[in-house]
Order: sequence, then C-alpha cells, then structure tokens
Amino acid sequence: MTNAMELSQRAQGVPASPTLAITARVKELKAAGEDIIGFGAGEPDFGTPEVICDAAVESIRSGQTRYAPTPGTPEAREAIARKLRDQNGIACEATDIIINNGAKFTVYLALQALVNTGQTVLLPTPAWVSYKPMIQLAGGVVREIPAGPDSDFKMTPEQLEAAIDSDVRAIILNSPSNPCGTTYSGAEIRELAEVLSRYPHVAVIADEIYEQLTYEDEPYLSIGSLPEMADRTVTINGLSKTFAMTGWRIGYACAPGDGGSVIKAMTRMQSQMTSSITSFLMSSIPAALERAGGEVQQMRQTFAERAELIHGLIKSWGEVTCPRPTGAFYVFPDISCTFGRTSAGGVAINSAMDFAGALLDEAGVAVVPGEGFLGCGVNHVRMSFACSEDDIREGCRRIQDWLAKLA
Ligand code: PMP
Ligand code: GLU
Repeated sequence: MTNAMELSQRAQGVPASPTLAITARVKELKAAGEDIIGFGAGEPDFGTPEVICDAAVESIRSGQTRYAPTPGTPEAREAIARKLRDQNGIACEATDIIINNGAKFTVYLALQALVNTGQTVLLPTPAWVSYKPMIQLAGGVVREIPAGPDSDFKMTPEQLEAAIDSDVRAIILNSPSNPCGTTYSGAEIRELAEVLSRYPHVAVIADEIYEQLTYEDEPYLSIGSLPEMADRTVTINGLSKTFAMTGWRIGYACAPGDGGSVIKAMTRMQSQMTSSITSFLMSSIPAALERAGGEVQQMRQTFAERAELIHGLIKSWGEVTCPRPTGAFYVFPDISCTFGRTSAGGVAINSAMDFAGALLDEAGVAVVPGEGFLGCGVNHVRMSFACSEDDIREGCRRIQDWLAKLA
C-alpha cells in the first residue's frame, strides 16, 4: 500500500530551479550581513520604469481588481500584437496573443499544448535550466543538440538537420541565449529556417525574452516573421527582462498558425490553471510597450557597457576562456582549466559545482554552475552582469585572486 503522501512520479522527477535557488541564497546571505558579490541572478538590477508602475497603481485605485479575461484584456493583447507586428515583423492580430504569468509559464503551456507523451523535443544546449524539466512534465523526450564555444554555442544547420526525424514534435530556440549570452544572426536564423521548412511536422517554440537586449548593430530577426515559419512558430516573450519587471510575472505568446489553435488550447488550459495574470497589471502592458522606450534604451546601453567590461576582465584570467557576449546579460566562461586543482580552502575542484561552491564560500562571489544548463555547460559557470560596474570590478578581482591561489 502506498503512503498517503507519497509523491507522484512526476513530482519526484522535478528538480528545483538552480538559478532561482542561487538567487535566493545570495539574497539570504546578503540579508544576514555577508559581503557577497552576486553574479547569479538572471534579473535586472534596475527599478521598473515609473510610467509602468503608475499605470498599475492607477488600475488598482480605479477598482480593476476582479477577474480578467483569461488570455488578457483586448487592449493589452492589441498592444502586444502591435509590438510584434511593428518591431518584429510578425503578422498577427490581438486574438493570436495569450498573456501568461511570466514567460516561464508561457513556455510550459506551449509545451503542454503541443507535445504528446513520448514525442521528442529538440533542445540546443547549453540551454536554460527550466526547459528540460518542462519538456519532461509535458511527457516529452529531450534530444539535445550540443554546441560549444567554438561555434559561439550555436547549433549549425547541419546539426539541426541530423537531429530531426519523425519522432520530433518541436524545437526550442532561445536567442539571445540564457546561459551563453550569444545571439543567432539574421543569416543564421534564415539558414535554420531553411532546414526546418523541409520538415513541416516540427513546431518552433521561439523564446525571445532577451530580444531587446542585444549588443550588436544588426537588427534582431524573429523566426516567426519568416513566411515559411509563420504558421508553426510560437513566439514567446515577456516584460521581465526588458522592462525590469521580473516580479510582476508577465509573459506572452503569439501563434497565428492554424487559425490560432495553439493559443486557444493554451487559453483553455490557463482557464483551468491560473485563470489569468493579475487583473490590475493588464494596463502596465501597453504602458511598458508604448511609453517606456527611453528607459529601455538606457538599460540596454548600460548592459552593453557592462558586457564589454566583464568580458575584458575575464580575458585576464589566464586559461579561462569566454566568448564575447552579444545579447542577454550573461557570460559563460569555460573554467575547466581549474579541474584537478585545489582551492586555498582545501576544496578539490573537479566540476563547475565544486568551483561555484568553493568560490562562494571562500571569496564571497556567487556564480551559477553550468551543470544545469546541460551539454558542455559542465565545463562552465554562468555570470550575470545585471549588477553594478563596481560589483563587476570587485567580483572579478576576487575571482582572479581566488584563481591565483589554486594549487
Ligand atoms: N526564458 C528564459 C531564457 C529566461 O532566462 C527566463 C528568465 N527567468 C524566462 C524565460 C522566464 O522569464 P519570466 O518567467 O520572468 O517571464
Ligand atoms: N531566468 C533567470 C535565470 O536564469 C531567472 C531565474 C529563472 O527563472 O530561472 O537566472
């Protein structure tokens, strides 16, 4: 007989998000008065622009505190559709949009809407920590497409083609990449689309949450804007990163294909799960997308300067190698040159996990060990530069000193 509180196999199989765990741990240590430099958190260190906060406060004061429509209010959906048409070239209408409780839940719902038990989902790796558990929660089977620093962590069209067979249901594309900080160029996206166009049974889940945070001159290309991909791409985005709104929990999806069947399915599921996002946050969506452009440009410029700064500092760490970040707010140095050595505190460093643990304990610097990102992530740590220039300089100085003392 089973114990009444025995967990389902599904629950037993889900690991906690390591990125959120590290973010929480750093907050705890700082609150306890410890002198910690945090490169762990994948969240902007800026405040949410005032114009967005004002819209939400006004909504709460004017009594918009009841249930809202499940996929979002018509105004909020229209603002998103307009953004995707004007900025991303995606042909869509307000009815092609669903607003969810963060892009994380949007990815989850999209997978639930598309994937049957046993079907394969392609995952270019290293990949964000939550994709694999979410694919597995949908009953899907993960097939990794591994890429490394030599190709800026980007899969080639040949790798993509070799990974596709009749079991494949979908692919998750995330550019700019968490954790790698690299971005597919427009030409590279077109090459991948050319391969995918020959396999019409494969849907694309394009996680574009860092799309506004790119540091090259080249304009961003959304795969869902290409005519051959338009009908089978679910474009996912949200307000968390671009507008410094991680705690607000606002994400969205756009999928114009097949008469909006995927958005309708996601809406049905959401209506049984969370109903909608918080009703008085709906008005913050047009406010952000239409009235916070100046603040976004400023934050982007600051991230671009920090990207250069941190990359320059890491380059002076001896054998540690690190591709230049072109998007998001992450660098992903290869620290495997430290494996087999021992820290000043006596810890044998044989993995990214050992590296990150010893670095936090001995130097007070938090980074995310790469194991959870899969693929060659085992040789890397992720450092977020969503922190001040002073923290970047001080944290990098501490790491350099700590590295110099390895025996
Ligand atoms: N996708 C990627 C690649 C991310 O890094 C994040 C960050 N948490 C998300 C989705 C989810 O963002 P949110 O749920 O805060 O909208
Ligand atoms: N995406 C951010 C990160 O990778 C926030 C934490 C999370 O949701 O994973 O750090």
